[in-house]
Amino acid sequence: MKVYRSKGDKPKIKLNKKAIISIAVSVALVVTALAVTLSLTLGRGQTQPPDDGGGQPVITTPVYVLPVDSYEIGKDFDKTKLVRHVTAGMIQTHEAVDFLVPLGTEVSAVFDGMVISVDVGTSMEGGVVRIQHAGGVVSVYKGLADDIYVEAGDTVKAGDVIGTVGIMPIEARDYEQSHLHLEMRLNGVTVNPLNYLPELGDK
Ligand SMILES: [Zn+2]
Repeated sequence: MKVYRSKGDKPKIKLNKKAIISIAVSVALVVTALAVTLSLTLGRGQTQPPDDGGGQPVITTPVYVLPVDSYEIGKDFDKTKLVRHVTAGMIQTHEAVDFLVPLGTEVSAVFDGMVISVDVGTSMEGGVVRIQHAGGVVSVYKGLADDIYVEAGDTVKAGDVIGTVGIMPIEARDYEQSHLHLEMRLNGVTVNPLNYLPELGDK
């Protein structure tokens, strides 16, 4: 079953309940296997380790497209500042970037890679897709609508549409409008996605 599409393809392939359940059941097994395989095949030699001064690790993977075509930035990436989630009343750091975009905005994979997990409609974060890229990089897209176009194990190209913006319940009341919450990790350490974004129009 084709589960993702490139920009411009019109038909959406909806996941029915059976498919969603089957994904949920298989994700845990798939993730474990993929994590081992990918760390062996992709994890070497393409990134620089964090420097001793506590600076940000550097992602050197070359091709990076914007996850959404246009946006304003809501909360930025900050490892030190504690922010309070209006909805949940939780206080934590926001190690991600929020892209303020309308509901239904198409969300693209930022690098080539392989989908390692898909969670639909989680109570705190809405739809969540995690993609493993070369060089130990993982991108995580949160707040997606239920209609997700990829499943674990799919190979994606930078720019492939993986889903659309929905609601991220834990942050839903932080803004007047919907947003995409994007996290990036390098060898398990969160890094600021904005450090690697091309300028608008480069896509
Ligand atoms: Zn966020």
